[in-house]
Amino acid sequence: MDIKIQILDTCSTCQGQAYIPVGEEVSNSGERYLRHEPCQTCEGSGKQTRWISLDQLVDLIAKLDADPMEPDYLELARAEPTSQYADSRDAADI
Ligand SMILES: [Zn+2]
Repeated sequence: MDIKIQILDTCSTCQGQAYIPVGEEVSNSGERYLRHEPCQTCEGSGKQTRWISLDQLVDLIAKLDADPMEPDYLELARAEPTSQYADSRDAADI
């Protein structure tokens, strides 16, 4: 059995930019500019559907888990551990 899962990935043609440069043009005022056109692969959405196997999905999830923690969590981790235990001991007058 071959299970495949469809995911919405960043378009590999435009790297999620949705538009790709097609060349320099000269505007009416005589300025040169880079002309962009909607990416034809993703039709200007920047996303591309991709079929992956279960193994690849597991890899993807592992990568997501390996992402560095949010700064807020890091700050919490560095802060002195607050001890509810000590508080409750005080409250119980032990
Ligand atoms: Zn694209």
